[in-house]
Amino acid sequence: MKSFRFRLTVIMLIVIGVSVLAAGITMGQIFKNSNMKVLEENMGREIDLLRATFPFVNTDPLSSTDYISYYSEKAKEIARLTQSRVTFIRKDGTVVGDSLSDPRKMENHASREEIQQASTEGIGRTIRYSETLKRNMLYVAEPVVSDKGFDGYIRLSMNLKTVEEGIQRGWMAIGIGLVLLFLAAGLVSYRIARGLTSPIEHITGVANRISGLDYDARVGVQRRDEVGQLGEAINRMADSLQNQMKTIRDNEDLLQSVMSNMTGGILMIDAEERIALVNRESERMLGVAGKRVTDKPYHELKKHYELTKLIEGSIQSREKLHGEVHLYNPEERLVLLDGVPMYEDDGGYRGMLFLLQDITAIRRLESMRSEFVANVSHELKTPIAAVKGFAETLLGGGVKDEETSRSFLQIIYDESERLNRLIGDILELSQIESKRSSLDCSPIHVSSFIESLLEKLNNVAAKKRITLHMEIPDELYMEADEDKLQQIFLNLLSNGINYTLDGGKVKIKVVTVQRDHDTERVVFTVSDTGIGIPKKDLPRIFERFYRVDKGRSRNSGGTGLGLSIVKHLVDLHHGTLSVESELGIGTTFTIELPLLQQEE
Ligand code: ATP
Ligand code: MG
Repeated sequence: MKSFRFRLTVIMLIVIGVSVLAAGITMGQIFKNSNMKVLEENMGREIDLLRATFPFVNTDPLSSTDYISYYSEKAKEIARLTQSRVTFIRKDGTVVGDSLSDPRKMENHASREEIQQASTEGIGRTIRYSETLKRNMLYVAEPVVSDKGFDGYIRLSMNLKTVEEGIQRGWMAIGIGLVLLFLAAGLVSYRIARGLTSPIEHITGVANRISGLDYDARVGVQRRDEVGQLGEAINRMADSLQNQMKTIRDNEDLLQSVMSNMTGGILMIDAEERIALVNRESERMLGVAGKRVTDKPYHELKKHYELTKLIEGSIQSREKLHGEVHLYNPEERLVLLDGVPMYEDDGGYRGMLFLLQDITAIRRLESMRSEFVANVSHELKTPIAAVKGFAETLLGGGVKDEETSRSFLQIIYDESERLNRLIGDILELSQIESKRSSLDCSPIHVSSFIESLLEKLNNVAAKKRITLHMEIPDELYMEADEDKLQQIFLNLLSNGINYTLDGGKVKIKVVTVQRDHDTERVVFTVSDTGIGIPKKDLPRIFERFYRVDKGRSRNSGGTGLGLSIVKHLVDLHHGTLSVESELGIGTTFTIELPLLQQEE
């Protein structure tokens, strides 16, 4: 656009320059011609005057020299008055008088242009370089015939120096004027060019900004002409672009947020077998950063060997896929993989779309459920078998001995008692798990509460010569569901007694701690000097029916439900539970509960 303005200015300048120059030349020429004309006319009039008034004398005979000095003398007089050179010439061309030179030394003038012209036209004029005077001279000659015996020509000549100087000055003035005119014209034409091009430049600038994604750019030209219409058209275009961009962005945002908030993983492989899209869930499952793998070949995912193989198969066949894969990232995940080929509206193949669903938790729950059913039936079968067996024996009447039948009945009683407890525990657990039980909180004086618990356990402990200790601040009160709290510590303490060899120690210690945000919490530690729990079993002891040593635990009457009930009850109280243990040295359970329960 700059160059357009530049070209426009240059063209205007050239046009103006040429016309100014032509005008100058014409003016100069006219000036010069009219000047010369005036000069010639003046000189002609002077000759006419001389012709009428000059006192001519006879120039014959040729030999006489008197008239030469007469004419020369007169020529000098006239020259002084007219400030021009005066020459008297005879018809045959002999010079008889001259105001500047000696006529006797001058050559014949018959062939001079002005003389020839004068003889034919009555007046002769010419501009010539004079050898005598060494400069440009204007010669004007006229024939003169006098009755006093002169027949020849009077010639006036004038030095053109002054005339030329005048003309030169004229030229100079014209030149300066022209230059000034040219400059002024240049300025004006630049302004005109700018006036024409600057709105276009502005519009171009706006269009460039719009194409550079600046959709807020608008043309500010307020004109009713074509340029103004162009500006308005650009503005309308920008408006509609802006609207369209907004719609596209909104759609994109919507799609983006749907994708990133989806609970399923999405993975798209395009027709060139490159990863076209990975959503947040897929990133999490596959352990990759979307930014890094997008546009890369899908082999980037080769660390998930099983997955890559399945993807490869379905890409090659371009057929639907439904399967399960294990992902290790690093923990194991079971993922349901669904793949569908994607086609464009015109039927062109676009790639494969995969949906990944983490079914690890579902599977674990399913297996836990079936395991639970199996466990329950197994646990129930043992006591029922015992009850049935002993009852059959007694019914068969084979036992006459009063004492034996008594001991059989005792066994039947014990086993049904155990069955009862088992069913109670299972019911309790399922109730807690289904969240049907809620807390019934009241203030509890911790030390007297624990003391009464220990009293209940004294008998059992005494049988194994196990000593029970407690270390609890006297004045400590807390808020909790008393029944449930009792269940928690009965379980922990009886475990401590059960899994500690005769003569050991079980201890419960309570302290309060200040956690962040002024929340006070009560920390219970139940420790024993018992047999301990192997490291590999520690993470599992809170599972239902999990027992470290099934045989021994059953002998001691355990079902493996105690700790899972404890875990649920602690959760219900918004507390935390942890365990540390060393084989043969002892086990410590730590429970942290809030001092006050939050209202729900
Ligand atoms: P119950 O349902 O009658 O309590 P249980 O005691 O076998 O049966 P849990 O209380 O859940 O079941 O305990 C799970 C297992 O954890 C036990 O079988 C035992 O192997 C182990 N365990 C629990 N507490 C201790 C402890 N203090 N010392 C050593 N092992 C323990
Ligand atoms: Mg127990």
